[in-house]
Amino acid sequence: MKYDVLIIGGGPAGNYLANLLARDFSVAVVEKKGSFGGKACTGIIGAASYERLGLPEEAVLNKLRGAVFYSRIQSFEIARKTPQAYIVDRKILEKTLAERAVKRGAEYYMATTFRGFKNGRAVLQHLGERLEIEADFYVGADGVSSTVAKAIGAKTNAEFLSGYEVEVVGDFKEDFVEVWVNKDINDEFFMWVAPVNGGLARVGTLGSIEALNRFLRMRMLKPTSIVEFKAGSVGFGWRKPWVRDNVALIGDAALQIKPTTAGGIVFGAICAHALREALLSGRPGDYEKLCGNVKNQISFGLRFRKVFRGMGQEDIEKVFEVLGSDEARAVIEGQADFDDHVKTAKALLRRPKLLAKLIRISPSIVRYLV
Ligand SMILES: Cc1cc2nc3c(=O)[nH]c(=O)nc-3n(C[C@H](O)[C@H](O)[C@H](O)COP(=O)(O)OP(=O)(O)OC[C@H]3O[C@@H](n4cnc5c(N)ncnc54)[C@H](O)[C@@H]3O)c2cc1C
Repeated sequence: MKYDVLIIGGGPAGNYLANLLARDFSVAVVEKKGSFGGKACTGIIGAASYERLGLPEEAVLNKLRGAVFYSRIQSFEIARKTPQAYIVDRKILEKTLAERAVKRGAEYYMATTFRGFKNGRAVLQHLGERLEIEADFYVGADGVSSTVAKAIGAKTNAEFLSGYEVEVVGDFKEDFVEVWVNKDINDEFFMWVAPVNGGLARVGTLGSIEALNRFLRMRMLKPTSIVEFKAGSVGFGWRKPWVRDNVALIGDAALQIKPTTAGGIVFGAICAHALREALLSGRPGDYEKLCGNVKNQISFGLRFRKVFRGMGQEDIEKVFEVLGSDEARAVIEGQADFDDHVKTAKALLRRPKLLAKLIRISPSIVRYLV
């Protein structure tokens, strides 16, 4: 059998791409698991992007209209009248996208693992049976530890971090996410509390399980109220190339993930549109160029991460003072974009008073971010 495009990996990126391509190409998706979902992921997705990308309404569990930011000794709130982000059910998200793709003509090979390429064909394993599928074009959408990336010799210098997340029963403000930045608890990343509803939240961080446990104790969430535990990993940096000959990488396989927040679903979907455009024009080599905005966001995120890693908690307290001011909150509430952190940073740095205060904390903050 031969397809125009064989997508390896049926996560959000692979299934979304299958949807986009299925009307114009013969498409197959190979997924190693027997069912969708199960990945460690809080499932927070910017509401505007969610609607713009046409992601499935039925996967939305909760709508968030604000965030409360906590440092060691301060807190401030950013609130809007309308939902800014959704919390989604990953299984429903992935399965609904796959169902849509099948209805458009895509074929799925579940419980089928990609092993490598041989003589231009994909070598696969399905329940102990070896099979080969040929395609004109292959896409590695197989996540952060991508086998396809290894098969095409893609290289990376990224920072890889483990992520830990629990679902815990408690009492939560239903439409606000909590963001805790406290290096005494975790010096590698922030901690988040994302409510699924008023009585259940997804609580997580990147770094170590000890950091998550310290945070749960500080936030007074009982270990015995945890009803789900998941671990996974993320990669912040570049894995290149994104396209080599007739193989492209997409989603986490290409490390299309925000180094600021570890959100990757939106970037993978945006790059799926870019890949469709490149394939339709017959110039797959243009794919990377067409992902220009995502690349800018990743570059900014990497600079932001460098600044964050270089800061001590005292600096973070000073930054909180600036960001918690009425002026900064008004800018964030009026202009911040959940998926465009470059725009948010520019809006803040355009204010002379805020800029001066940030330079006073550390000139390198501004130098790195601009
Ligand atoms: C703790 C944590 C919290 C996160 N929270 C968020 C969040 O709130 N919002 C957000 O946007 N992102 C979040 N992310 C990131 C997000 O999970 C990823 O960016 C997203 O899952 C990437 O989708 P993907 O389809 O590229 O890869 P994946 O979701 O990893 O999917 C890859 C698929 O490929 C399959 N596969 C792998 N190898 C093979 C193979 N050899 N053969 C066949 N199939 C294979 C896998 O089974 C899987 O189904 C979080 C990540 C972590 C670790």
